[in-house]
Amino acid sequence: MSLIVQKFGGTSVGDVDRIRAVADHVARTRRQGHQVALVVSAMGKETDELLHLAETVSKTRPGREMDMLITAGERKAAALVTMALADLGVPGLSLTGSQAGFITDTTHRNAKILEIRTARIQEALDAGRVPVVGGSQGMSTESGDVTFLGRGGSDTTAVALAAVLKADVCELYTDVTGMYTADPAVVHNARRLLRLSFDELLEMTATGCPKPAMRAVEVARNNRVKLHVRSAFTWEPGTWVYEEDETMEQAIISAVTHDTSEAKVTVTRVPDRPGIAARLFRALADNDVNVDMIVQNVSMDGTTDISFTVPKESVARALEVSGSSDIGAGEVTADETVARVSLVGAGMKSNPGVAATMFETLARAGVNLEMISTSAIRISCVVRAAQVEEAVQLLHDAFELGAA
Ligand code: ASP
Ligand code: MG
Repeated sequence: MSLIVQKFGGTSVGDVDRIRAVADHVARTRRQGHQVALVVSAMGKETDELLHLAETVSKTRPGREMDMLITAGERKAAALVTMALADLGVPGLSLTGSQAGFITDTTHRNAKILEIRTARIQEALDAGRVPVVGGSQGMSTESGDVTFLGRGGSDTTAVALAAVLKADVCELYTDVTGMYTADPAVVHNARRLLRLSFDELLEMTATGCPKPAMRAVEVARNNRVKLHVRSAFTWEPGTWVYEEDETMEQAIISAVTHDTSEAKVTVTRVPDRPGIAARLFRALADNDVNVDMIVQNVSMDGTTDISFTVPKESVARALEVSGSSDIGAGEVTADETVARVSLVGAGMKSNPGVAATMFETLARAGVNLEMISTSAIRISCVVRAAQVEEAVQLLHDAFELGAA
């Protein structure tokens, strides 16, 4: 008998029929002899609707009250799924994050899990019941208040729960049939991936793949939680994510990702002295600007240019902080018409020429590379946003990632 943690996203429990379909699937999984623990998101767009409601009602929106409000969505879904299970004769137990033992810090709207006290969940499982936990929430022991883990936090709830329960697998059910070699909306012959390593999925979610939540993938990697990303609509097997066996043959390139959510900020004529970059990026960090790619040019006459990318919503703050950070630089400019295209693949570690092929492919199409950054298993280029979809298609072809 295995223990399976199943997480259902918002669209998977989006209406009454969906909730019944989920309950059916859980009953089926139990009939196959498995123990199941569930984590559910809020139904459909409910989280967005609650956020909108708060904006309409209040200018101040205290964090404590926001979390009390938002977590209601998952609580409602958990109760409804448990009722649907009861109709099928499956005994369940809906639990809020706090009842389920999720202890967090006090950072409202973006709380971190500190500990999971599993006694109550374990008791339910031992009694043959299905615990149904509201995702993305917990309780701060310091204040005793309800906390929300942030957008997409239900993935993190599920993976963390699978880790502490030592579950055999954490199944993340969503509205797509798995992870793809590229965004199927951009590349018509994108192929579903059967298997990925944690590191590859982490790089994919860091470079534009919207699901699963990157934070959840980190938790999975750190705790070796085997993931199965799959569809709650077709129920067919999706993409398995687990630790790479070193002796296994690895695909050179697994996927091409792209991201249009960032802008490029350039600071010109930065004095080329020790401590200047430190001061600039400390000021940005202190102002909560999340910097991603950083490129510093070769120094000329004692100064250099530094470019970096930031989320588009942080551009105004990045400009202000960089302009006033008293490093004696020249000009600060921002460009929001950029996008990033990335190649991800564990096999590139041992295969030379991947970067060369990538750059040649883009050069032939007249795509200029404005910034380049690499990790052991990823190469990213910042290009004009207007050219990014073409770049994704060309690279997908060049590395023969498509379905035959
Ligand atoms: N419902 C929340 C959101 O949409 C949490 C989650 O689904 O992960 O962000
Ligand atoms: Mg959601």
